Parts: sequence; C-alpha cells; structure tokens
Amino acid sequence: MLSGIGTPIPDLPTLRPLGKYSSRSDSDECFQFIQNKIQQCAESHPKCAQNTTPLLPKRVVNIGTNSESTIKLVEHGNVSAKYIALSHCWGTHQPIKTTTSTLSQMKSSIAWESLSKVFQDAITVARRLEVEWIWIDSLCIIQDSKADWETESSKMCDYYENAYITISASSSNNGTIPFLRERDQQWLPEKFPFTCSDGKVVEVQARRHRGSSMAQLLENLGPLALRGWVWQESVLSTRILHYTESELIWECKTEVSSEDGAKPRGFYSMGLCQKVSKSEKDPYSCWHDLLESYSVRKLTFESDKLPAVSGIAKRIQERVKGTYLAGLWKENLPMELCWSVDYVSSNSSTPNLLPESYIAPSWPWASVHGALGFVDRDPECPFESCVTVVDVQCSVPGLNKFGEVIDGYLILKGLVVQLSVNCRDPEECWTYTVGDDPETRDTMTPDCMLMESEIRKGVHVGDSTVKRARKDDVAVPFSARVSCLRVGHEDDGESEFVYGILLAPCEAVEDTHIRIGLVQLDSEEWFEEALNALLKSSKIHF
Ligand SMILES: [Zn+2]
Repeated sequence: MLSGIGTPIPDLPTLRPLGKYSSRSDSDECFQFIQNKIQQCAESHPKCAQNTTPLLPKRVVNIGTNSESTIKLVEHGNVSAKYIALSHCWGTHQPIKTTTSTLSQMKSSIAWESLSKVFQDAITVARRLEVEWIWIDSLCIIQDSKADWETESSKMCDYYENAYITISASSSNNGTIPFLRERDQQWLPEKFPFTCSDGKVVEVQARRHRGSSMAQLLENLGPLALRGWVWQESVLSTRILHYTESELIWECKTEVSSEDGAKPRGFYSMGLCQKVSKSEKDPYSCWHDLLESYSVRKLTFESDKLPAVSGIAKRIQERVKGTYLAGLWKENLPMELCWSVDYVSSNSSTPNLLPESYIAPSWPWASVHGALGFVDRDPECPFESCVTVVDVQCSVPGLNKFGEVIDGYLILKGLVVQLSVNCRDPEECWTYTVGDDPETRDTMTPDCMLMESEIRKGVHVGDSTVKRARKDDVAVPFSARVSCLRVGHEDDGESEFVYGILLAPCEAVEDTHIRIGLVQLDSEEWFEEALNALLKSSKIHF
C-alpha cells in the first residue's frame, strides 16, 4: 500500500516507507548502495573533493583485480594511486603481521589463507570497488621495528585522510569475525498489523533501530567504534564505509546515510569527519565536540589518552595557531577549564576512580575518566572569563608536543570563596552538593569519585577536606570545606550562568590545589561578599 522512499505518511509524519534492506552485508544491493554513494560523493560533494590519486603510503598491499591475483606488500618511492584503508579491532587475536624477518616474504606474496577473515573481507570489498591497493596497519608497518613504528604511526593520520575510502570493520571484535556475512535475524524487517484512526487494519513493516543516546549509538556502531585509537581514524577519513552489525552506513565529509535510506538516528557520534571540515568557523567548539565523542571510548592503555588524540590536536592547532596544554588551548583557557564529566550522556551516575597512572595535572580533562561535557559557545550568550592566567606550563617528554605529559602547573588569579561540599553517597554523582545552607545547596559535577581527605597541619585546621578517590580507597559519605574559584560567566539578558571550579588542597604539595569538580550556578550570589570586598582576587596554584 505504501511506496516511494521519503513519501510522508498522512497523520504519521515520523513514519515512512521502509527502504531496501538486505539479509547479507555482501549482497549485490549493498554493493550497489556503495557505488551510488561513491558516485554522488564524487559528483556533488565539493567538500569531499580530494586528490583521487594521492601519494601511496610508504608500504601498501597490492591486491590485484580479482581472486586469482597475487597479493603482496609493495614498498613505494613516489607512486600515486587510489587506495583503501582498513580500520579494524585487533582484539585478543593477533592478525598476520609484517616483521623484519617476514618482510621479504610478504613482498613476494601473501597467501589468501594466511589472512584473517576481516582482511579477506576488506580485500573482497576493495576488489569489488576496483581499487587495487589497500593499507592495513599490521601488514604495512613492520611490527617489531620501533623505528618503523614511530615513523609510520606518525603518518597514520595522513594515510587515513588520503585514502579513497576507509573500510570500518565495525562489527568485528577481532580478525576472526567476518564482516561480510548473514545479518542477525533481529535486524530484519518484520510485519505487524496496525489499526488506523478509521478502524482499518493495515500491515506495517518495521525494522529495529537502536536508541539514539550517545551510548546506544556507539553500541550500534559496534566494538570498533568504542576503541579510542580508532576514533582518530574516523575523524580524519574522507569517506568511511561502516560495516555495522545491523546495516551499512556511509559517511563522508558531507553526509551520513544508511543503506535503507534512513538517516542514522542522532548525529552525536556520527559525522565525525564532517566536524573537522566545519572547524574552520569555530575550531574550539569543534575540538570540544570531538572530545565529547572521544571521551566515551575505551583505551587499552590509560597512557594513550593524550597520544590517541594527538593527530587531531595537530590539525586543530593549524587552525587556532595556539598553545596546546595537555588537551586544552592556552588562548581559550578559562573556557577550556569549564569541562565537566557528563553523567547524563554516558547513562551512568557512578563517578569513576582516578586513573591508576599519572596522565595529566588535575586541571585538564585528561586527568580523569568518563564522558565529557563542555560549555557551549553561543554568540547570543558569550562566555566571559573571570580569571587571569598568571602562568601555565606542561612538560612533554617526547618529540610529539601533542603527546604524553609528565608534569604541569597552572596559576590563576580570581575570586575564591570557601564553602562546604557534601556527599550522601560517594558512588552516586547526584548526591554531591555544594553550599553551606542545606536549603539552598546546588548540585556539583564531581570529576571522579571523591572521598574525605586527611587533614594536614597548616591547611584547613579543624576542617576536613576532600580528594579524588583511587582504586582501593574506601569512600564514605562526607561534608568538608573546599574552595570555589569563579572562572566564567554567561549572561544573555534573561538568564545568567556562573561557572566555578571546586578545589581542594593538594596532599602532596603545600599551597597547591587539585580540581575536584565543576559547579554551574544561576547567580553571582556566592561571590557577592568577595565581589564587594574591593574585588580582591586570590592566586590559586594547581
Ligand atoms: Zn561526500
């Protein structure tokens, strides 16, 4: 009874006829969908225009044109050609690798049977798309050569950016799980009887969709999307073909669409590669948007937290020409400091524990785990800084100035008030409140789980204070004194927002503070006394 994708159904504007859907991800219809998208992208997306024959990566796999062709690793000087890049999960199953001892064998030929299912599928797709070259990290970087790993991994961002298409093996946890396969029954369209308003019963076809919260969207994209390192590959690729568990999703710098013609719901985690191309207008907002999607992903090693975003940081730096400080930009520092852990988007109300190893000082977001939220940059309601940055430094040990940090400090000058932080249940973020009067306490966003801290002589004598909780710490309900530094202010004429960073004395270093959370207030009330006291500012070192 219904026909024509996109034709609205009277009275039911949110419903529409179901598009084509295949029960297998390698059906002719799926390949037709990809071909159509490639054609549209080439013909009508100026933003996606790129050099169609870029310089090939240093090493790349030649796969020939058909299943009879020899597959071999080729080392290039200056050859230009179209190539495909693969984004995949290594998982616990180690894929076939190129090492110093296997390099010459790989250059002569690579047996089909020696390739993992994921690599075989990627080659099948590339051959169907008539692309003869494919870049796969484990084959194209010599895995037991530190020098080769360092030079080649630093070029990985360019390799993904220049690839004709990135194949994202989203549904494969590891190399043994093919992504060209029969789809699970649960994703197939089903028919239901539906009673219309006039009493007529018609047959309706529907297909399951996951919800559109950030956590659900990422889950829908599969295990690959959750990996922190892969995030950078998604952001930088020009065109990505996501082989998700339920459907094929096309993503380029201009559009995101799925094979049944529906727009994948919610763009929270999708459209990453569109974001960088939009960053010319407002690079800081772009950086924050990207970090929000990065922060929900998992990293095998905590120490990768900053290195895994370094390629994007470098590109943002080219736009803002600013100083990078462990994930924050010096030129926008007061606003950058107003990050908070976003317990709503991540669907979790349990604060995380502090990372076991040192990642950053307490003022950058990298010092804690969890989904992040940032202050929106709204021209109607601009953010005004209320602090002066006296001094700031971060020490980077390696050659990559966007990489790991071993130390850092920040000295700010601004209004500070003392108040109490209260917590009924340290494992429940919503039970953390600030304010002396129980009637007018505000909720605060803790950076991680907090716990009462031992009182040191000379600091808060007679009072207890708090610290960020680590593994094996036993956190109990508390009420303690902390400092609140007014950092920024927004006023659109109707409503007002005041941002304050909550600080506790550092246990290890005297006269130094650690950040424990952020508070967003709807008035200056707390700071009025300090404001009236001749605007006396305090220097805060943390
Ligand atoms: Zn495009």
